[in-house]
Amino acid sequence: FASTAQAKTYTIATDTTFAPFEFQAKGGKYKGIDIDILNAIAKKENIKYKLKAISFGAAVQQLSANQVDGVIAGMNVTPERKQTFDFSDAYYTSGVVMAVAKGSSVKSFKDLKGKTVALKTGTAGATYAKSIESKYGFKIKYFNDSNNMYNDVKVGNSAACFEDYPVMSYGIKNGIALKIVSKQYEAGDYGFAVKKGKNAELLKKFNAGLKAIKADGQYKKIVDKYLHSSE
Ligand code: GLN
Repeated sequence: FASTAQAKTYTIATDTTFAPFEFQAKGGKYKGIDIDILNAIAKKENIKYKLKAISFGAAVQQLSANQVDGVIAGMNVTPERKQTFDFSDAYYTSGVVMAVAKGSSVKSFKDLKGKTVALKTGTAGATYAKSIESKYGFKIKYFNDSNNMYNDVKVGNSAACFEDYPVMSYGIKNGIALKIVSKQYEAGDYGFAVKKGKNAELLKKFNAGLKAIKADGQYKKIVDKYLHSSE
């Protein structure tokens, strides 16, 4: 039985759009640091998987409801999440920044009084903004994906948004008309997540593969391709 059993095909959820970690290339195929890392690790460790791109909030929810086997989505390892999920070794570090429209006069949290702030449901950025909401007296509007959140700020409905620094700066470099006006808050690690106590083998293989692609230079090549190339 065991010798003929088919290897399990895991379902791994990712965010719909979170460049440079995941985004749809022309033709609809997903690429990005998370996707390329997952691919390289899967090759090393013989992991079969199919990718499921859904909103970040839905990915986290479906993981906790056992509807997917893992999540790779620039997901921060946090003490709260560790109660529900097991995380891989860290593969990136990032913090949260505030961004405003290019021509905006909003320079700091104090300027947000009475204004609306756009947040992405279920993210570390949303949690951080929520924690300073009453202190600075702003209102909150939630979005399911980063692009719609940016757009609400761009068109002036919201005064600011909160996003992960590498993602916001990559977006701005690639033409999103926003600017970053804060330092990074709540810096922490990104990890691949499985439901707590589940899929231990998948997690073990992910960590082994991550170690291997760090050792053989593939990891660095992937990160450099998206973040440090001069194209
Ligand atoms: N890093 C953030 C978090 O873990 C946002 C992730 C995302 O939007 N894909 O909440």
